[in-house]
Amino acid sequence: MDNTFKESIQKAINNSNLTGALGKFSEAYKVNREKAYQGIDFEELRGRIAELKSFAAANLEELSERFTQKAEACGAKVFRTNDPAKVREYILKVAQDNGVKTVVKSKSMATEEIHLNPYLEKAGISVGETDLGEWIIQLAGQTPSHMVMPAIHMTKEEVSDLFSKEVNERLSSDIPRLVKVARDELRPRFLEADMGISGGNIAVAETGSIVLMTNEGNARLVTSLPKIHIALVGIEKLIANYADVATILKALPRSATAQLLTSYVSIITGQTPNTDGSMKDLHIILMDNRRSEMAADPKFKQALQCIRCASCLNVCPIFRLVGGHVFGKVYTGGIGTILTAWFDELKKSEDIQGLCIQCGACRDVCPGKIDIPELIMEIRRRLVQEKGLPLIQKAIYAVVNNRKLFHGMLRAASIAGKPFATGKFLRHLPLFLADLTDGRSLPAIASEPFRDRFRNIRQPKSQEKAAFYAGCLIDFAYPEMGEALIKILNSGGIEVIFPEGQTCCGAPARYNGAYEVAADNAVDNIQALLNEDVKYVISACPTCTVALKHEFISTFESVGLSGWIPKAKALSAKTVDFSTLIKKLVDEGRLSLKEGDEAGKITYHDSCHLKRTLKVSAEPRELLQKAGYQVTEMFECDTCCGMGGSYSMKLPEISAPILQRKLKNIKETGAPVVAMDCPGCVMQIRGGMDQDGAVVKVLHTVELLAERL
Ligand code: SF4
Ligand code: SF4
Repeated sequence: MDNTFKESIQKAINNSNLTGALGKFSEAYKVNREKAYQGIDFEELRGRIAELKSFAAANLEELSERFTQKAEACGAKVFRTNDPAKVREYILKVAQDNGVKTVVKSKSMATEEIHLNPYLEKAGISVGETDLGEWIIQLAGQTPSHMVMPAIHMTKEEVSDLFSKEVNERLSSDIPRLVKVARDELRPRFLEADMGISGGNIAVAETGSIVLMTNEGNARLVTSLPKIHIALVGIEKLIANYADVATILKALPRSATAQLLTSYVSIITGQTPNTDGSMKDLHIILMDNRRSEMAADPKFKQALQCIRCASCLNVCPIFRLVGGHVFGKVYTGGIGTILTAWFDELKKSEDIQGLCIQCGACRDVCPGKIDIPELIMEIRRRLVQEKGLPLIQKAIYAVVNNRKLFHGMLRAASIAGKPFATGKFLRHLPLFLADLTDGRSLPAIASEPFRDRFRNIRQPKSQEKAAFYAGCLIDFAYPEMGEALIKILNSGGIEVIFPEGQTCCGAPARYNGAYEVAADNAVDNIQALLNEDVKYVISACPTCTVALKHEFISTFESVGLSGWIPKAKALSAKTVDFSTLIKKLVDEGRLSLKEGDEAGKITYHDSCHLKRTLKVSAEPRELLQKAGYQVTEMFECDTCCGMGGSYSMKLPEISAPILQRKLKNIKETGAPVVAMDCPGCVMQIRGGMDQDGAVVKVLHTVELLAERL
């Protein structure tokens, strides 16, 4: 990661105005979004949006032609091009042919994408933004930091300074007063402008209409007062049928700003009369800029299902910490990373793709049903394909791909780490490793890994067997979690097998784009785990479970190892996470836990992979309650803890504040124990609590349940 980029991250995190504004907004957004969607089947709604938008993406050519025909029949002039330069030239030519001196604009990300304002201004045309947020950033000489709320990073005090300069009068930071100043300043501009430029939220092929949604009504003035109106629309805004507008209108305001309706919805179909009786000169530009190429890409075509609501930004734990400007000049957040890789170039996404911690929060709320984290992983894979792996990573993966060498090195690290260990923690590391223990202690590597301890565990024989997939953390750092799991399964009548050939699940390699390495790990694990005659393959690590259940298959698909897919599917069918299997045993009456509420108060942290990929969140809570623990919910219980595998080591400046927020939320419950189902989260949160000096115990659910048999 480039140093300048790292510096921009640090600068953003140190900007308390930015983190304060975004933090407050994201907290309120979650609550309000939930209210806005009350009574609506979100899954059904987004299913319909995904369907209609993916149909459009698959038929862009036909829909563009139909749109052109219909819009031209109503008097519009339609210009279609793939080239942003041609868009700029077209707009300038219309302006010059008509002697345009001033332009008013309503908010349009497409015009940002082609850097239209500086281009027109260089040609001597004055361009005025009329959306309040856009006007603020125009005055500040900045670019939007958010797709829907471009000036969200600025405080009212900063805005009052800007407005004071503009109107040459010292203004207070009273918001209604500032809004009035904006209104008074902008009104005459609409009346004086020679040309209006807008974007378009939707373009309807059936009728040739464009749909514009705003909360301030400025788009109405931009498109109706000047005699010339140019609408710049990305072709991904096309939909086939007029009736489908309502479907998008239902989701867009709810997802964007948690409103039931946008204040102003304008549907423009063809030319309209000006006040002097002449007809408006209406131009609609359908801009491609690699969207058709994207539509032809089997992975990235789903990104065209985006309705630009920015919900993915609003729930992203990274975005709320660093804001939008770190992502570059135009599109921001997770979807912005994907759009930058396409509309700009893959290389431009090299640094920003690393910001995603793969928590999956955006995928859950996206009304276009886009798997944003998966597409970001695909960007990583393509970057590695294009540029190769950095030398250091190559060396690490060469070790990880050789199980015996890898495990031998972990054993050696257990001995080498002893001088730095205090009990079960490494609190300080020397030299260049010192950063790794900043704000979080690391677990000392166990002197006897689980695989060695397993040989000495005596189990009752049973016909029903499960293979235990430990994963690196339980095997080498937390073997006691593995022992607890065996104790519970044995009580439920299941005998546990530990296939010794198992190795790293490949998640670290996959999340860094090294799919070939991940595929090698997958092959080794499939061979080890399918070699046993067992009913289940169980894991107490959600990241590993997701790898075994889903990612081995998709990794083989990506690298073209289709011969291994049937075996990966067979493994997937047997794989189950710990809480789901234990809950099943309890429900079937095969396993009983000590009941009563004497076990005390605890709180529960949802691990990202367990909650959002495996859809397991009620099960561990029910088990803990059944076992006599009183579960008290913490604020943002399902927000990422900042671990993200190697993320916490690559971007400690981001991981650390996320962890601090999690520690605060845990401590505020007053519970003396926090439970979770992921050894990675245990490592992060336990290490954080240790450095914090807090007395809260951090335990895996498996350890808590084993005490209540
Ligand atoms: S997966 Fe998480 S970190 Fe990545 S873009 Fe989505 S919300 Fe942000
Ligand atoms: S990716 Fe999804 S959540 Fe993000 S802006 Fe697009 S539609 Fe909205």
